[in-house]
Amino acid sequence: MQTNYNFKSRGTLVLLVLVLAIRAFALGGVAVAGTTYELACTTDGCQFKIIMNIGGGIRFEQVTGFCAKCGKSAQIRWMRKEPTPQPLLEFWDTTSGTLRRVYACPDCRGPFVAVSNIADFKHCPVCKKESLKARRRHLYD
Ligand SMILES: [Zn+2]
Ligand SMILES: [Zn+2]
Repeated sequence: MQTNYNFKSRGTLVLLVLVLAIRAFALGGVAVAGTTYELACTTDGCQFKIIMNIGGGIRFEQVTGFCAKCGKSAQIRWMRKEPTPQPLLEFWDTTSGTLRRVYACPDCRGPFVAVSNIADFKHCPVCKKESLKARRRHLYD
C-alpha cells in the first residue's frame, strides 16, 4: 500500500513537470496562451466582480474589453487563419501613452475599448474608484 502510494505520487509529479515544461515551451515561443483573470472591487460594500479572458490561444485570437452599456465583459474571438476584425476606431490615449482600439460589442454593438493588459483595467465601473484587484485564474491555449 505504501509503495503503491509512492509510485502514484511520483507519477503525478512527473506528469506535472511535463505539463509545466510544455506550458513553458508554448509560452516561450509566440505569446499563444491567454489568461483568465478574476477582477474584484476592493471598495467596502461594492460587489463588482468580473471574469476577463485576455489574449488569444494557439489557433485563435481575441480582443476583450468592458462594455459599459451591457455592464459585462465584451469579447470578439476569431481563428488566426481568418481575417482580423477591424476596430471601429483607433485613438492615441494621452493618459496612458498608448494606441487604443475600440471595437463594437457583439451584444449591443456599442463601443468598448480593447484591454490588452489587465493592469489597464483598474477602475471599478460601479463605484468608479481605482479599486479593482486582478487574480490570475488559469491559462488557456
Ligand atoms: Zn454591449
Ligand atoms: Zn467598485
